[in-house]
Amino acid sequence: MKPTIGFIGLGIMGKPMSRNLLKAGYPLWVYDIVPSAVEEIVSAGAQAGTSCQDVAGRTEVVITMLPDSPDVEKAYLGPQGVLAGAKPGTILVDMSTISPTMATRVAQAAAAQGCPMLDAPVSGGDVGAQKGTLSIMVGGDPETFARVEPIFAALGKPVLCGESGAGQIVKACNQILVAVTLVGMAEALVLGAKAGVDPEKIVQVLGGGLARCGVLENRGRRVIERDFAPGFKSRLHYKDLNIIREAGRAFGVPLPASALAHELFGAMVAAGRGELDHSGIVTVLEDLAKCEVRKKG
Ligand code: NAD
Repeated sequence: MKPTIGFIGLGIMGKPMSRNLLKAGYPLWVYDIVPSAVEEIVSAGAQAGTSCQDVAGRTEVVITMLPDSPDVEKAYLGPQGVLAGAKPGTILVDMSTISPTMATRVAQAAAAQGCPMLDAPVSGGDVGAQKGTLSIMVGGDPETFARVEPIFAALGKPVLCGESGAGQIVKACNQILVAVTLVGMAEALVLGAKAGVDPEKIVQVLGGGLARCGVLENRGRRVIERDFAPGFKSRLHYKDLNIIREAGRAFGVPLPASALAHELFGAMVAAGRGELDHSGIVTVLEDLAKCEVRKKG
């Protein structure tokens, strides 16, 4: 018998992830503060919960996919939150990207109530969520990980990285690399475009050498096509860079490249472009250079 799962947070990532759990045959209860998102997944076969508490009370495993640390805090610890409904033994899995400190705090509150909890943020974006090929970075105890592994398999590839909070630390490492690479790609494309070279040629030829990477493959084309529909919203990457810098301060690690990327993403959000895909960071560099990256002809 497959366990009944509760899924809370049906945004860009949560919707396709919950669809994949339904496809894998898990009975599913869902909740989001946006009713239309709930209706969409109910029409795919899920049942609608009325709150986080309600969903937690009806299910054996609760998964959350929420924007930020305060959202996770509220969804678990707030009135009508997950911990108000979860029975002892219910497994809790937060797949949002949040601060490692908050992840550990919520996991400790859950443990005090007899509910084991994993932090399990992901990488792979909306496409990885749709295809069920997310890279899942897990923090928590091995026994709970083993029990959730078959569920993770419907969403992607899990790796147990260490104790509670370790998943969020590894996700922070991932977000450093993606943000700094996006800024580097944007700089390269703006320089090439202003010097009169076709950006399509740049993406093509860089993709065959040492600069080849997922960011270039996945986001280079979006920049050239000016397709900045999210994907991953730049305000969420700004949030991640804030988490990264907090972690840097907490562990005494200077993160100069992340600090620069943080300021550039801050400029993008301040310019009212926070809802655009993070590849739209190129627009900030375009503003500085007074030049737009567009394909020729
Ligand atoms: P999103 O903004 O599209 O979705 C978040 C959803 O959570 C929304 O539907 C919102 O209504 C809901 N929500 C907020 N507070 C709630 C609450 N208290 N109770 C119930 N529902 C609530 O964001 P997303 O792009 O799906 O990202 C979710 C998380 O995954 C973020 O932490 C993000 O950093 C991370 N992430 C996103 C991507 C990506 O490519 N989009 C990739 C990897 C990781």
